[in-house]
Amino acid sequence: MAEDTQADCLFCRIIAGEIPSDKVYDDAQVYAFRDINPGAPTHVLIVPKRHIRDVTAPEAADGALLLALLRAANTIAQQEGVAESGYRLVWNVGPDAGQSVLHLHLHLLGGRPMAWPPG
Ligand code: AMP
Repeated sequence: MAEDTQADCLFCRIIAGEIPSDKVYDDAQVYAFRDINPGAPTHVLIVPKRHIRDVTAPEAADGALLLALLRAANTIAQQEGVAESGYRLVWNVGPDAGQSVLHLHLHLLGGRPMAWPPG
């Protein structure tokens, strides 16, 4: 996956603190904040601090970072009180999925029952 912070990337600017966000989690590799347009009572975006464009070109070296994202998701689910009630982890990829930000991010949605398959 591509690296480096991109000055024009919305999520890079949020991670850098240039754009405000409602932080819910922060560690050496991962930053997470509330979605500005929530699709559920709990809607958190879990983002690698290193700029990675999307999920289409994973490399072996990214394995530890992807694990860090999942570990952060588990921690956030506990923090948000949805670990037992259940939650959904979503990667949007490309136009049909509605992907709008080209910086890898995992959506964590919960706090209400959710239909499957999604609409
Ligand atoms: P995606 O559609 O998968 O690319 O997800 C991008 C998400 O970023 C959307 O759910 C947006 O609501 C969210 N978003 C866009 N700008 C902001 C922002 N400034 N702060 C928090 N979330 C944002």
